[in-house]
Amino acid sequence: MSSDNPSLTPEPGHLYVVATPIGNLADITERALSLLSKVDSIACEDTRTTGAMLTRLEIRRPLFAYHDHNEKRAADSIVAKLQAGESVALVSDAGTPAISDPGFRVARECQRLGLPVVPVPGACALTSLLSVSGLPTDAFFFAGFLPPKSAARRRFFEEYRDFKHTIALYESTHRIEKMTAELEDLLGPERIVCIGRELTKKFETIRSGPISQIREQMSTASKKGEFVVLIAPANYEL
Ligand code: SAM
Repeated sequence: MSSDNPSLTPEPGHLYVVATPIGNLADITERALSLLSKVDSIACEDTRTTGAMLTRLEIRRPLFAYHDHNEKRAADSIVAKLQAGESVALVSDAGTPAISDPGFRVARECQRLGLPVVPVPGACALTSLLSVSGLPTDAFFFAGFLPPKSAARRRFFEEYRDFKHTIALYESTHRIEKMTAELEDLLGPERIVCIGRELTKKFETIRSGPISQIREQMSTASKKGEFVVLIAPANYEL
């Protein structure tokens, strides 16, 4: 890509919402690298996590925290920087900001005030798995993380049992076993699912098929890591 491509250089007063890798550092884009190394400052969920990534990428820019617990205050501070003509990049710990990650509030504030917000797309666990799953992708419903309480999870599965599009969920290592049991119990053993673990990392595992078969395969496999779960519409066959 030409080095005089204007999209590689941050403009004053612009917020860049920059996707970062979900495991494989080589998934950083050329545009992300260029903008992250040139913006006035970078807002990130965890300065240590992003600091470590930037060190590996040999980027040194001022970092400040933007996370769930200071989102309102930090959004105001980003807006003040933008209004003073600074360029700011927003990143999360991994993947695309605002997708089950902080970012929504500052984007909303910028849209409300007419400040330019620029997407710098890249890795996202959800779209990575969808793209290889073999499940319908023409339309899907991303529900993020389900609540931890069993009753609320049961209600979700009962409500969406007959949903006509693919359903996508994020799940942690602590609850993946619980989720696969819920899927089999509440949606039936033949329901087609796709479960992606540790996408783009060394122990990446992707399994598509009836939930009873996937559970069987997973019973002896490691449940450590990060998971994306896709549920096919009822009666879908692979
Ligand atoms: N913003 C991120 C994105 O664009 O995918 C998602 C952040 S969310 C806090 C973290 C969850 O995303 C994990 O618990 C897991 O469900 C999913 N996830 C993130 N990285 C993943 C990976 N490499 N493999 C599988 N799932 C992943």
